[in-house]
Amino acid sequence: MNVLVIGSGGREHALAWKLEQSSLIKKVIVAPGNGASGRIGMRKFKKILIQCHLDLNPNNVKEVSDFCVGNHIHCVLIGPEEPLSNGLADHLIKTHPDLIVFGPTKDGAQLETSKSFSKQFMKEYGLPTADFVTVSADNVKSLDSVFERVPWKKSVVKADGLAAGKGVIIPKDNEEAKNAARSILEGEFGSAGHTVIIEERLEGYEVSALAFVDGISFKKMPLGKDHKRLLELDFGPNTGGMGVVAPVEIPSEVNCQIDEIFEKTLKGLANRKIKYCGVLYAGFMIVNKKPYLLEFNCRFGDPETQVLMRLLESDLFEIIRSCVQQTLSKCEIQWSTKSACGVVLASGNYPKSGDKGSPIRNVPPPNDTNVVFHAGTSVINNQIVTNGGRILCVTSIGKTSQDAREQANKVASEIEFSGKQFRKDIGKPLDTVAPS
Ligand code: ATP
Repeated sequence: MNVLVIGSGGREHALAWKLEQSSLIKKVIVAPGNGASGRIGMRKFKKILIQCHLDLNPNNVKEVSDFCVGNHIHCVLIGPEEPLSNGLADHLIKTHPDLIVFGPTKDGAQLETSKSFSKQFMKEYGLPTADFVTVSADNVKSLDSVFERVPWKKSVVKADGLAAGKGVIIPKDNEEAKNAARSILEGEFGSAGHTVIIEERLEGYEVSALAFVDGISFKKMPLGKDHKRLLELDFGPNTGGMGVVAPVEIPSEVNCQIDEIFEKTLKGLANRKIKYCGVLYAGFMIVNKKPYLLEFNCRFGDPETQVLMRLLESDLFEIIRSCVQQTLSKCEIQWSTKSACGVVLASGNYPKSGDKGSPIRNVPPPNDTNVVFHAGTSVINNQIVTNGGRILCVTSIGKTSQDAREQANKVASEIEFSGKQFRKDIGKPLDTVAPS
């Protein structure tokens, strides 16, 4: 089998690394890929080749489709949300009926690509979420009266569409929330902000629950804890994610409620005649032992995937194939009982546009404890250099989350590039232990 992994982040490097270990796979191609693919970081197994195709545009469905034919691809795994929202899965399923396509069609991807669709869906199918109102750009004048009526004191303001993880504002009070909503409606995020969602701000602790989904059944992965803020102790601006620890322990009754939410979501999708095949990511805020949905993502998370692939003991390709064939309920999925910690190394100016072109040194080769996944890297004159944003994700395995974190921090400290920033507190007990 030849597999094409679409994307260029740390998530895709981790997926390719895991696929490479499958005895069923001959070749893995990552497109567009990054500085790692085919060079360093990937474990090399006999007869297996990993290539990177920097010139493939994942948002051009025809180009991807032709590429699959030209390169004898049997399976396509779509990493990021943008190609999914452009209908890449729809196009490939339609034009190549024999291809194994892992990732939802455009209608399923709406759970992520439109926050107003997603909130309406949650409301319709009784999924617990924060109270909310939506306001569209042609109603910007109604903002004053909307904020007079909302019964909550603190709001979160969200642009409806995809805004590269930057479309969520957490203002200090409702006055600031109103101004944020106005500037989104007036074009701050372009067409992604034609509608805003103003919702009640919840206080609790967050967990990320990802599940493999075949349209009928789901299999949850170990729960993870993402760290969105740039700085330690959760200070600084929101980012794409600065690190993850998994598994996270939560009370069993909360876990059961999360399972029920996945069940209801699948029923809702079936009710709307959406055949969802891929990963469904649910972000939760746990408030007084009750999980509230903050968001859905229609794909693997980044950096959750880097950590989860370190814990997955089963063959990823077999799981993917069972999702496409709707036999997931029969597929046994084994996870390590150890802990994994992923620490993101970001460029100097991140989350603003980051430095590019700095040489990266001291990246250790992968071993059973540590694997460094590449994200914003490229290659110039045979030297791996930074390419802006999140550069690398160091993942480490330990007996406990503390062991895993200490390992990852050690490797992260030794890697060198100009402007490197990372958090040393990923998964520290205060973040991960559920309040009793
Ligand atoms: P991602 O980058 O993962 O796609 P996103 O930009 O789609 O995220 P959300 O996950 O909805 O946005 O929100 C980002 C963060 O904002 C959440 O992880 C959470 O910390 C915070 N947040 C969102 N909604 C709420 C809420 N109702 N109450 C409190 N905090 C919230």
